[in-house]
Amino acid sequence: MNRARKAGVNPRTPDASRVAGAARSARSVWSRPNPILAPRLPDRTHICTLGTLRHSSHVEPSPPHIVVLGAGFGGLTFCKAFRHPRARVTLVDRQNHHLFQPLLYQVATAGLSAPDIAEPVRSILSRHRNVTVLLDEVHSVDLAARRVRCAHNTLDYDYLVLALGGTTSYFGHPEWERFAPGLKSLDDALRIRREVLLAFERAENEPDPREQQRLMTVAVVGGGPTGVELAGAFAELARHVLRRDFRRVDPSRARVILIEAGPRILGHLSARLSASAERQLERLGVEVRRQTLVRDIGDGYLDLAGGQRLEAGNIIWAAGVGGNPLTRQLGVELDRAGRVKVEPDLSVPGHPEVFAIGDLALVLREDGSPVPGVSPAAMQMARHVARLIERALEPSHEPGVRTSRRPSPVVQAAGLPSPCGAGCQPAAHAGPRQTGRFSPSRPPDPPSATGTRARWPPSDGPRRWLNWGGSSSTGSWRGSPGCWCT
Ligand SMILES: Cc1cc2nc3c(=O)[nH]c(=O)nc-3n(C[C@H](O)[C@H](O)[C@H](O)COP(=O)(O)OP(=O)(O)OC[C@H]3O[C@@H](n4cnc5c(N)ncnc54)[C@H](O)[C@@H]3O)c2cc1C
Repeated sequence: MNRARKAGVNPRTPDASRVAGAARSARSVWSRPNPILAPRLPDRTHICTLGTLRHSSHVEPSPPHIVVLGAGFGGLTFCKAFRHPRARVTLVDRQNHHLFQPLLYQVATAGLSAPDIAEPVRSILSRHRNVTVLLDEVHSVDLAARRVRCAHNTLDYDYLVLALGGTTSYFGHPEWERFAPGLKSLDDALRIRREVLLAFERAENEPDPREQQRLMTVAVVGGGPTGVELAGAFAELARHVLRRDFRRVDPSRARVILIEAGPRILGHLSARLSASAERQLERLGVEVRRQTLVRDIGDGYLDLAGGQRLEAGNIIWAAGVGGNPLTRQLGVELDRAGRVKVEPDLSVPGHPEVFAIGDLALVLREDGSPVPGVSPAAMQMARHVARLIERALEPSHEPGVRTSRRPSPVVQAAGLPSPCGAGCQPAAHAGPRQTGRFSPSRPPDPPSATGTRARWPPSDGPRRWLNWGGSSSTGSWRGSPGCWCT
């Protein structure tokens, strides 16, 4: 150090060549071929007035930018779980509200009103200062350029979380959508409710008894959880809620028909539970038709495989769930439904900085079966990815070295040891808890703006739950509906 002082060089102020060397080595470290840990370096370096490089060992990367697409169970949980002092998070959704989809059927059947199951994304995340919420429609994702194009914004990212959920699939018959709406959004639920209630009103004005009966018939296609919930709730609506409100027609004579192509309803549960669900539906007055294939759907009718035509004032499609159409242009491997086949750590193959979670991801368990598309799975995946990215961004983490990627706990639920200890319990759905009787287990509480958990469902009454994991049914409730105006 003394020698340096004698030579007129301040050892604390490195000369240009040493600094340039340091800058080179810094760049070479950052440019090692591992995109996951390399938030982009700014192109500029700090140049002092004398033209010498100063403090270049101190080249500061811009704050890492995490873009999250979709504010459903997966995207929202990620934003709440992800904590990093410097990272910026941008959350994009085409709706300004988070929707509690497990209760959509209650809105569709006039048990709850829309605001009971939807809450503004902004207010949920208002305390998360690092999260920017954008109301925008995602149009395309360029994985090579690390860029997302939306209707109003173009976003460059260091990490991308794809949480865009799924869509209703009509198995190659998109034209059926006009006559048989699916149930995926609030608009769908409100449309179904309006049409069903108006059909009863029309029946009251209709002199022809046959047409009256047609108007008071609801056919639900698909004996999965959504179809079962809807059919049970329609039967209760007609037999208990509307029963005394009409004079010329008797709503308790309404027909609710549940059509299932497979040998049993709720085919993902045990045969005993399927049979129990069917019995309970029949007690509510639902006609359950198993092994019945729908050939065609038109305005007010369904053609069945055996040549029979069913006339129904309302037809609801609850038979198919497909991946989000955006996955088709990612250029990565998908399953038949259009879900992204992810690595065990939920990253997209070949893109360790991109993760797919929730309904959009195909996550295989150890036995090769897919993790079901349920909200606890989406939330668990989100928390897992949040931890992974946090760890990758830790300052102690040597840039360029890939962080050890543990499989997601939803994969681990199949029997592998839990990676994160007690905090990462396998979701209840992962090995369905099949409890004989419909259990009161339920989907997670919807978030509340006050930060506390809302009591859920918000209304009173002995309403039971159909939690897809815990397998509960609509059971019976006789309370008056929250709102059933159209
Ligand atoms: C009727 C119904 C009942 C259900 N019942 C249950 C149940 O009882 N229990 C249970 O565990 N699970 C249930 N589920 C499944 C559960 O809701 C899903 O598994 C869960 O919502 C998946 O979360 P996600 O984050 O992957 O997707 P989602 O919650 O669907 O969120 C996707 C988000 O992406 C947004 N988005 C999509 N495309 C775009 C785009 N191009 N641009 C911008 N934003 C976009 C959407 O607006 C949405 O907010 C039910 C689902 C439905 C439809």
